[in-house]
Amino acid sequence: MTFKDFHFEPQLLEGLEAMGYDKPTPIQQQAIPIILENKDLIACAQTGTGKTAAYVLPILNKIAKSDHRHLNTLIIAPTRELAQQIDQQVDGLGYFVGASSISVYGGGSGQAWDQQKKAIDGGTDVIIATPGRLLAMFTSSGSVDMTHLKHLILDEADRMLDMGFYDDIMRIMTYLPKTRQTLMFSATMPPKIRTLANTILNNPETINIAISKPAEGILQQAYMAYDTQKMALLKHVLNEKPHDSIIIFASTKEKVKDLGRELSRSGLSIKAFHSDLEQAEREDIMRAFKNKEVKILMGTDILSRGIDVVGISLVVNYDVPPDPEDYIHRIGRTARADKTGTAITFINPKDQRNFYDIESLIGKEIPKLPLPEKLGEAPLYQPQVKVKTTFKRPPHKNKKFNKNSDSK
Ligand code: AMP
Repeated sequence: MTFKDFHFEPQLLEGLEAMGYDKPTPIQQQAIPIILENKDLIACAQTGTGKTAAYVLPILNKIAKSDHRHLNTLIIAPTRELAQQIDQQVDGLGYFVGASSISVYGGGSGQAWDQQKKAIDGGTDVIIATPGRLLAMFTSSGSVDMTHLKHLILDEADRMLDMGFYDDIMRIMTYLPKTRQTLMFSATMPPKIRTLANTILNNPETINIAISKPAEGILQQAYMAYDTQKMALLKHVLNEKPHDSIIIFASTKEKVKDLGRELSRSGLSIKAFHSDLEQAEREDIMRAFKNKEVKILMGTDILSRGIDVVGISLVVNYDVPPDPEDYIHRIGRTARADKTGTAITFINPKDQRNFYDIESLIGKEIPKLPLPEKLGEAPLYQPQVKVKTTFKRPPHKNKKFNKNSDSK
């Protein structure tokens, strides 16, 4: 997909070229069509995903097509730094559109205040403001004319609420026209954000791009093991402590089938879940697992997203997932709804670099447990040492722009 697919105005495509953006990021691919269709949107996306341009571009496109003589868009951001960064992107991307913008934040001189007010009264296209200063402008003598406002964007909404801006935001709403398009971007979606969304958005579309952090209640552990030791290790882990519900992830469906067969032969209540099964068979397996008739479910990453089964107390990664985000999705199958759970990963020498990437993503080292003695000696954890392998890792550079975390 390229930016041309959005049928942007030529002036905007020029701006994109000048900024050196070749390809829309996942959040841009998803958000831009929704915004161009004038729908409200709530998007869960962190800084670094390209979220700013995801809303700035479609808004600028609409400005390019309008007569632009009135204030068109209000962007509210928690801090002055963020407001300035957004302003820079509006300036850069909107340069050839001729869109004007101003950032409005506290802490400056009286002169800055006058300048900001003048720019607003003069019909700037986009205002980027922090909540406190914006409210001060509204309440000061000579109110700001918002009658032509078409778009309201709340950026880093979760941070604004954490900073105590809820009341300010609600007061700002009373100055804005009721008919408008409202977009909300937030790195996390706690209940208070949903409440805010229900109050100020109208039938919004939802996008979720964020990398979630593993829940606090998950005990994460790992074993270094050669492939030849993994089956015996798995049996050891499954027998070590009683668990009602267990999910085991492996890298390929062939492995899932083989391991499933081997474990059922040892008398365990296990079902393999993979893409070769008919839809009806998959549904039967899921039902049996949810009802706790089947104790262990084994699958590839197709199991790692979306399935919401309460009471899974153990997740085993028979292999390290190549994508660190998949690790978070996998282990997130346990410790749901504030329960606790354990996630154990088996790392062979070839996968240790991938495991190191996971530790970097979650920002902590996961304890490596000693192998049970009867299994022999474990390989050492030396992620910095290059292991000879035929598997070529994808380049890490610009990774965040090359993948869509929700596409699997
Ligand atoms: P943000 O997540 O909005 O803070 O953006 C992170 C960085 O990515 C900013 O420096 C943007 O200029 C840059 N960026 C946004 N979209 C793209 C894109 N499509 N291609 C290249 N860089 C981008």
